[in-house]
Amino acid sequence: MLEEKSPQRTSIAQLGEFGLIDHLTKVFEINQSSTIKGIGDDAAVLDFKDKKTVVSTDLLIEGVHFDLAYMPLKHLGYKAVVANVSDICAMNATPTQITVSIAVSNRFPLEALEELFAGITLASKHYNVDVIGGDTTSSQKGLIISITALGEAIAEDIVYRSGAAANDLLVVTGDIGAAYMGLQVLEREKQVFQVNPNNQPDLDNYTYLIERQLKPEARKDIKELLEKLEVKPTSMIDISDGLSSEIMHLCKQSNVGCTIYEEKLPLDPQLIAVCEEFNIDSTTVAINGGEDYELLFTIALEDYDKIKGNPNLTVIGHMVKESEGKHLVTRANQKIELKARGWNALAE
Ligand code: ADP
Ligand code: MG
Repeated sequence: MLEEKSPQRTSIAQLGEFGLIDHLTKVFEINQSSTIKGIGDDAAVLDFKDKKTVVSTDLLIEGVHFDLAYMPLKHLGYKAVVANVSDICAMNATPTQITVSIAVSNRFPLEALEELFAGITLASKHYNVDVIGGDTTSSQKGLIISITALGEAIAEDIVYRSGAAANDLLVVTGDIGAAYMGLQVLEREKQVFQVNPNNQPDLDNYTYLIERQLKPEARKDIKELLEKLEVKPTSMIDISDGLSSEIMHLCKQSNVGCTIYEEKLPLDPQLIAVCEEFNIDSTTVAINGGEDYELLFTIALEDYDKIKGNPNLTVIGHMVKESEGKHLVTRANQKIELKARGWNALAE
């Protein structure tokens, strides 16, 4: 997974700004009918006809949001697109275009940027989004990436954070916590490597966790799945910061409380095994670990039969009246107050 860096180092100063932009962007194709004009003019031109447009932006700073010591640039490019596509999916919309802005210091050779853009290209093909523009500039230090994603949806399909009601069921897609534990494994290997650079890490027992950290996927499939099941969520959010903090957002914006159950949290067996090895509580990781890019949503209680047994969807609890508060019921049947700590708190 952690491929060798290309030995060739072409200075980006050699190409100049326009040469660099041309070189990096010439691979991008236009596939969406809503893209009238992509890269190459002062602005892109889009036409969403009778659909609504949804827009979301993220900014990623080296040393704050990613560490190039264990994040290969190709994966970083892919993940940066995923994080934005995921936000569009969380509105129950279809992602259609992205813009990509980067600031780089001259420490990065052309080959490094080619790797980054190879990841961006791969993700844009996988999620069928057109890269329609961006900006390229220099930075004093480090790499900064900002991606803006656009998407389309008919007005009635859009799902906000604010629509949950008491008694609605709280549902999560896929499994949670793995991306955070993948990061812990990579951090540990980085430290081992710093002590002894000849030490080749054996990561076989951690492949799923590392993949969830380095190559997460956005749940573009869920909109279609829910349509097929004839379920429209009442509220929805993507899990980037951790389950508990995302639940808090839904509760706050919908003016409800919630009860979730420890025994219902969907955990991968590899996550449970590695939490034991690291002596970390897997429930804490599942609740506070971030970057899973799964979706968290609520549905009306009457819709339960439609989603029951679907392997992609797990009911983890339900919404209650705001005055009843937000709680986690443990396996020992203890009711503890849910706190939003976010994934950063775990690193302390
Ligand atoms: P401007 O002077 O209008 O900012 P630029 O010369 O920066 O234009 O960019 C030329 C074209 O290349 C524009 O269409 C812009 O959106 C696109 N572009 C520049 N940088 C990037 C990038 N990193 N990724 C994708 N498109 C880019
Ligand atoms: Mg520009």
